[in-house]
Amino acid sequence: MQDPFSNAMNQLDKVAKINNFGDEIISRLRQPDRDIKVSIPVKMDDGKLRIFEGYRVEYNNALGPYKGGIRYHQNTDISEVKALAFWMALKCSVVGIPMGGGKGGITVDPKLLSKGELERLSRVWVDKLSDILGPHKDVPAPDVNTTAEIMAWMADEFEKITGDKTGAVITGKPVDLGGSLGRDTATAQGGFYVFEALKNKLNIKDNIEVVIQGFGNAGANAAEIWQSAGYKIIAVSDSKSGVCNPDGLDIEKLIKYKKDTGSVLGFNQESVGCKEISNEELLEMNCDLLIPAAFENIITESNVNKIKAKVILELANGPVTSAADEILFKKNITVIPDVLANSGGVVVSYFEWDQNLKNEHWTKKQVFEKLQPIMTISAENVYSKAQESNSDLRMGAFILAIENIKKHY
Ligand code: NAD
Repeated sequence: MQDPFSNAMNQLDKVAKINNFGDEIISRLRQPDRDIKVSIPVKMDDGKLRIFEGYRVEYNNALGPYKGGIRYHQNTDISEVKALAFWMALKCSVVGIPMGGGKGGITVDPKLLSKGELERLSRVWVDKLSDILGPHKDVPAPDVNTTAEIMAWMADEFEKITGDKTGAVITGKPVDLGGSLGRDTATAQGGFYVFEALKNKLNIKDNIEVVIQGFGNAGANAAEIWQSAGYKIIAVSDSKSGVCNPDGLDIEKLIKYKKDTGSVLGFNQESVGCKEISNEELLEMNCDLLIPAAFENIITESNVNKIKAKVILELANGPVTSAADEILFKKNITVIPDVLANSGGVVVSYFEWDQNLKNEHWTKKQVFEKLQPIMTISAENVYSKAQESNSDLRMGAFILAIENIKKHY
């Protein structure tokens, strides 16, 4: 499998050929400002000490403090974190917020840890990195397998070490501990605003059928949002299984089922007309809109020719490889790229940081009223750049982002 950072650098090479930015900015973006690996000793519940490996990559802070989530996953490594940090730098620039790009992670399967072990692990990650973190330096957030509760432990640990009481060192906190209303659904909601802004331009109109891979924060919220706007969700999946129903899945019931059982696996036995499918089958389904909302490298050279969706909206980061991108473009399948499609999360993270620093508390209505125009205008800007450069939306987004970063230098 292609490592995510080479995929990211292939994308950078491609945009450098399409648009003449000059060598300097491209060289700067070819590596992070710094990448840090830390060892994280944790006393386990059985009294034994285990050492985990943790990361923070600070990619680029031309536009503001480094900003980006922390991922807990058994396959997370420095290459993945570097790629995610690179995409964060571009993402913040695409939507025009004053933040740079960073990302963090720990190689761990959090499902195998007790709550106490998870808390100690999270606190030590902050202890080891407290020198480089801070509201005006580097501001982490949740990502795969990290929650509002984990953010609260981290913010608390940072406050103990530094005395900083603003809470602005980290976003995605619980609302009663300084989190922003709307942060939990912001990524999916932002993706929805982008889709609505582009769907007429992309010529997909009525009776839209949607397939979603990944049923966590991004995927499950997307299913709810698209369904409540009248779209039909015909299939979803998680790491264990997929389920489909050509008449449309009952998303409310499925979310409750997943909460009770931990997976969508077996939902077909509870719901009439619903059948089980594999993740491979799900990706290859006939549909108008495919939303990958799980991991990187999902659509690659090996399955791209079987994709039948008309539009792919990347709520996950890096689900389509650059080789697959080329083939999709030729097949006239539009990819709405991650750096635009899932940027609603970082925009509301930025709102949270802003509220913390000003000691303000915005209503959910205020949050979404501020989010919508940012997403809509960014989608239109990306579309125009793609048209002007006669390339796909990813290249349009990259051109917009790199031009903004370059202006700073
Ligand atoms: P999550 O941990 O809440 O959910 C991940 C989901 O993917 C789970 O349902 C899991 O079962 C499923 N999954 C894992 N492996 C799978 C596989 N092989 N096939 C199908 N499904 C699989 O994580 P999340 O926060 O929803 O993040 C998902 C993606 O969205 C990631 O790429 C993340 O970087 C990106 N993203 C999330 C946010 C956010 O605010 N949550 C913001 C921007 C981007």
